Amino acid sequence: MAKGVVKGGKGSSPKARTSASAVQHAAGSAKGGKKVIKKVARKAEPASPAPNLRIKPGKMVYYFGRTMTEGAADMKTLLGGKGANLADMTSIGLPVPPGFTITTDTCANYYRNGQRLPHGLMNEVHKNIALIEKETGKKFGDNGHPLLVSVRSGAALSMPGMMDTILNLGLTDQSVVGLANSTGNARFAYDSYRRLIQMFGDVVMGVDHHHFEESFTKIKGKYGATADTDVPEQGMIELCEAYKAVYQKYKGEVFPQNPFKQLELAIEAVFKSWNGDRAVSYRRIQGIQGLNGTAVNVQTMVYGNMGDDSGTGVAFTRNPATGENAFYGEYLVNAQGEDVVAGIRTPLGVDQMPKWNKEVYKQLLEIKTKLEKHYKDMQDIEFTIERGKLYMLQTRTGKRSGVGSVRVACDMVRERMIDEKTAILRIPAGDLTQLLLPSFDPAKKKTVTVLTRGIPASPGAAVGKLAFTAEEAVERSHKGEKVLLVREFTSPEDVEGMHTAAGILTSTGGRTSHAAVVACGWGKCCVVGAGELAIDAKAGTMTVKGRKFGREDVISIDGATGEVMEGSIATVEPKLGGDFAQVMKWSDKYRTLGIRTNADTPEDAERARGFGAEGIGLCRTEHMFFEGDRIRAMREMILSETKEARVKALAKLLPYQRDDFAGLFKAMKGMPVTIRLIDPPLHEFVPHEEKQQAELAKIMGIPLAKVQSRVKSLHEANPMLGHRGCRLVVTYPEILEMQVRAITEATIDCIRSNIKAMPEIMIPLVGTKKELEALRLETEQVIAKVKEEQDYKPRLDIKIGTMIEVPRAAVTADQIAEKADFFSFGTNDLTQMTFGFSRDDIGTFLPDYIGREILPADPFQTLDTVGVGRLIEMGVTKGRGVKPDLKVGICGEHGGDPKSIYFCHNVGMDYVSCSPFRVPIARLAAAQAALLADKASK
Ligand code: PEP
Ligand code: MG
Repeated sequence: MAKGVVKGGKGSSPKARTSASAVQHAAGSAKGGKKVIKKVARKAEPASPAPNLRIKPGKMVYYFGRTMTEGAADMKTLLGGKGANLADMTSIGLPVPPGFTITTDTCANYYRNGQRLPHGLMNEVHKNIALIEKETGKKFGDNGHPLLVSVRSGAALSMPGMMDTILNLGLTDQSVVGLANSTGNARFAYDSYRRLIQMFGDVVMGVDHHHFEESFTKIKGKYGATADTDVPEQGMIELCEAYKAVYQKYKGEVFPQNPFKQLELAIEAVFKSWNGDRAVSYRRIQGIQGLNGTAVNVQTMVYGNMGDDSGTGVAFTRNPATGENAFYGEYLVNAQGEDVVAGIRTPLGVDQMPKWNKEVYKQLLEIKTKLEKHYKDMQDIEFTIERGKLYMLQTRTGKRSGVGSVRVACDMVRERMIDEKTAILRIPAGDLTQLLLPSFDPAKKKTVTVLTRGIPASPGAAVGKLAFTAEEAVERSHKGEKVLLVREFTSPEDVEGMHTAAGILTSTGGRTSHAAVVACGWGKCCVVGAGELAIDAKAGTMTVKGRKFGREDVISIDGATGEVMEGSIATVEPKLGGDFAQVMKWSDKYRTLGIRTNADTPEDAERARGFGAEGIGLCRTEHMFFEGDRIRAMREMILSETKEARVKALAKLLPYQRDDFAGLFKAMKGMPVTIRLIDPPLHEFVPHEEKQQAELAKIMGIPLAKVQSRVKSLHEANPMLGHRGCRLVVTYPEILEMQVRAITEATIDCIRSNIKAMPEIMIPLVGTKKELEALRLETEQVIAKVKEEQDYKPRLDIKIGTMIEVPRAAVTADQIAEKADFFSFGTNDLTQMTFGFSRDDIGTFLPDYIGREILPADPFQTLDTVGVGRLIEMGVTKGRGVKPDLKVGICGEHGGDPKSIYFCHNVGMDYVSCSPFRVPIARLAAAQAALLADKASK
């Protein structure tokens, strides 16, 4: 695979970093001139929580009810989110039906035990059922006044809809009569029974729900009913018989008539659903690892299906999409919970509720306020109204969009519910991206088919017809067509097409692949590594799951989720309102890390500055060699056989580079600009196909064979470990001379035109002190020579530093620091070389590593703090041991990743550098890191 001079292959992302001193300055001013004092390699592991005295070893069941509540809100790990909150809601006096929670440890033991319920569990269950019976005055399985329960899952982290639920447990042929008598509502009793038989049959015993639905259709036909609710009492009685027959037919046994047997099987089914396909996939997609299992909540049933004075609903205490402080949700009259979720009947908005039951609505609004006051956060609730009486069945922190989380956090500060530090910590930094880019209309998205999923490489929403080559993308875009560039992978030769396309989709590659890195830097929507796609560029087809798409077909890709969808989905434009600016202001107040950007063009630099970047941390100069005539001069240089010929070709590049650098200095208005000397192997600049080689030979007036033999001579078995980085300028000092000359001339030109310029020269891929020593000397000599030629007398403060990308450089950082004014950790290469994982090829095995929990996350996205992080700590400590003021930053992809930024803060870096669109994320993440480290140190 082509590495991409853009070093895409190498995962270069357009991020830039600046001179350390300037960043310090800028960071200092953002914080009101406060001096930032950092401890090297200081650790801020969260303090271990105080032991929870309520947690009793060996106890498997925790009760909640009026008579006693054993759990509490801070026991989520043991009781799951739902269990802990049910206990908590009970404690604060909300109307919660009594019940008990079986711990997540019990689930873990179930699996340890070879999928057998732990000994003694059912005894505890019996005792707790007795407690409920005492509290409610009902009896489990009774044919007079039967107690019915629901059985629901609930892990420590919410996994909505991923595991199983069974309602109305405890109904039998006997107790259904009791329920009918005690409620005076036989239709309701048999409706509840048929629901249990179906749910139990389907969820617990694996009988396909279609078999039940067929029977229901027959009964509806018999009674001329359109909706479920139209079926009369007699129909429901017959339906129960029909369902029992279905159960017996497919299970070969009668529907269990012992309520404790039902309960035991249901508990086991919930434990099993922890490792069901849905739950496993959800955890993989969400990156959830290390949980014990699910808890099981057994709770007294309350009925929303007892008539038109009953109902059930779900709601958020604020609008989760916009964050608006308005009660938001839906309810259904005469229904049970699953009716709302299943979408069989259309629910009503809660704003309609006053027309139905004013009192309940008022009560819900009071509960909304009470819950928010108690949890100091937006909640997501489930409730049921039984014959006009409201019951709370669940509350949990409400999931919200990026826009929603910013608004809720700011509103809650204004409402004096939380302080600004809490507000900062509440907003998932990565979600800020959603505020900066157009996104798909969530309502419209629900109506389309998801064809497959890839790796979400660069957020945004793109829609277009399919273009299979870069040239095609350019040509069709110029004709006004909106196209998506669909490739197996991209290389630097594709950049034009990538730039003009509305979005980029590849079937291979990871987060640091060429496509990912380049697109992310541009803020262009991109999905990579969608392995289910078979792309045939020649035929102009993309096949997925047996369906073929061609040039005229339109698809939509979501760069935030990795979804590839059929057809065109409407998008919504971002609105950067006052709340966004407020969050940025707070972030700048608390962060101590400087924030730079990776940028190679004045446009990117300006955009990043607009987002708050305080310098360029990495300008990948090789990106500048591709436009227009430059690539020709570059190729001429590479194909030259003598130094003289190379120098001549390089002279053609000099004016371009000088203008490039001057453009960056102007754009950054005196902020530091770190310019990295050439880095990728030269083979990335030359054409590899005979047709293009022949064209080049013709332009250069040399035989094709000559071009071919040079291209062949550039071939390396392992180019990522080959002739690249500083090794290139060791062999070809004239390249260094041209680049340093361009930087120095541009600096002097700018200063003479009253433009402040603060360049920093960065030497890549250094592994030994001698490399840096030799190249530093040459750099200094060129600077001195240019000054003399230009008759420029004042001091020119051009810092010379290095990237730490090779493990040897980290290990010998004390020696290297002697020759460096600054270090910038190139964690793309450092990760590659530390793990020995090719950054281009990790996509082939990463899913297995994540799926089997061998790795917690993609190490090219989130820093491996345990391994690669050790090398970074060592590099910082050793470097600063020699030079206490050594400026240290990071410019690998991790510089824009919130978790990695936390590490960078703790290790004492001066700044992080990331692509322009991640600058706001980095500002917020840096503030979060500072606040968390502060908390942990107390
Ligand atoms: C790195 O290796 O982390 C880096 C920033 O350089 P590149 O991605 O261009 O190799
Ligand atoms: Mg690198």
